[in-house]
Order: sequence, then structure tokens, then C-alpha cells
Amino acid sequence: MDLAANLEAVNARIRAACERAGRDPASVTLLAVSKGQPPARVEEAAGLGLSLFGENRVQEAKAKISQCSGRLRWHMIGHLQSNKSRDAVQLFEMIHSVDSLGLTQEIDKWGEKLAKTMPVLLEVNIAGEGSKFGFKAEQLLSDLPAMNKLRRVEIHGLMTMAPWSAEPEKARPVFRRLRELKEACEKILDAPLSHLSMGMSGDFEVAIEEGATIVRLGTVLFGPRPTAKHEL
Ligand SMILES: *Cc1c(COP(=O)(O)O)cnc(C)c1O
Repeated sequence: MDLAANLEAVNARIRAACERAGRDPASVTLLAVSKGQPPARVEEAAGLGLSLFGENRVQEAKAKISQCSGRLRWHMIGHLQSNKSRDAVQLFEMIHSVDSLGLTQEIDKWGEKLAKTMPVLLEVNIAGEGSKFGFKAEQLLSDLPAMNKLRRVEIHGLMTMAPWSAEPEKARPVFRRLRELKEACEKILDAPLSHLSMGMSGDFEVAIEEGATIVRLGTVLFGPRPTAKHEL
């Protein structure tokens, strides 16, 4: 796969979606999902100007990050087990996949010990799929005040994954609902939240039209992943 050509095509699609939505392309951040990709591929992407990478497994990320340039920034996008919180707090600039009050407490505990305040996004399972992680909307709203009190956890917004579909339009109500939920959270917190992390290779243009500030793209940039065994 020609990464440079893919990146150029993706950037053009992001710009076009922003234009349709009347948004500034600078308001959308491209997070390159490097799970399953070797460090050499990450460096190749970095050489093309990408600097933000997403991983879904702590162990894989730990090995990879140590083999890549220290200038790169890494976000955790996959389900995080509590017992991996310490590594996650150390390795990542942001965790997108925070899905319980208990996990935020664990992150807060390690943040305190490591003297690091951790930016997080709260993952919501909008469609209620049994196969996916994430807060139910009601649970999110009721746990939000307690999570907001934690000193070492900084809530920056929400994240979701739409159910897989060959038709991107099917994802639109999911993305719209996440945007509405962010507004409900902002009311509860009485503060703005900067991020909506939503949109993957199959549906990122719709996500941008619905307000995504971070799109998480793997396949459309890197091509099919070399190993499928780590897929969610
Ligand atoms: C793998 C993954 C992505 C990227 O998926 P693609 O369809 O390859 O773009 C985005 N978000 C999460 C949480 C993922 O696990």
C-alpha cells in the first residue's frame, strides 16, 4: 500500500467533509491507528508528517513506542484493563477508552503516584452492542460528577465506535447522539469539553459532518492490518 497516496486521499476527504459541514479542517485531528503495524511502518508515516498514533493494546504499544522516535505522540484507543493502568498512564498522552468509574479511579491513583495528570475521553456504547465496551449513556451522566472530582484525571470529551456497516450513513445517528451527550455532559460539568473522538475508516466523513474532532483511521491509511489477531 502506498502510504503517501493514501494519506493525501484521506486528507482530501477530510477537507471535503469539513467543507460540507462548514467546518475548519484544522478542527479535525487525524489519529493514525498503528495497531498491528510494525515500528518501521510508523516511522514511514511519521516521515510523511503524521505525529499522532493510536494503539489498542498496552503490551503492543509498550514494545512499539520504545522502538519509535521519541517525538511521536501516542493515544490509547482500546479497552484498558485496570491492571494495565500504570503502563497506560506512563505511555500515553491521552486515553480514549475510559469506560467505568472504577477505571478512572485506577488511573487517578497511578496519576497521583507518577505525578501525571491524565487526559481522558469517556467511551460510550451508544448502540448498546454486547460486543463493545463503553458506558451506557445514563451511567455516564450519573458517574460524571464523581469522575470529574478526581484530581489526576482530566475529562476532555467522549469517544464512540459505531456498529460496523457497509453504509456509512447508518452511523450518523450514533455520532449525532454522541454529540448530544457531550452537550449534556457540558451542562452537568458547567464547562466545555473539547473532543469527540469518532469515525473510523468506513465512516469518518459522516463523523466529521456530525462534529468529530478526532478521527481514528487505520485501514484507509495503512491498508489491511498484517495481523488480525488483536482486533476487537
Ligand atoms: C482499529 C480501530 C480503529 C481503526 O479502524 P479502521 O477501520 O482500520 O480505520 C479505530 N478505533 C478503534 C477503537 C480501533 O480499535
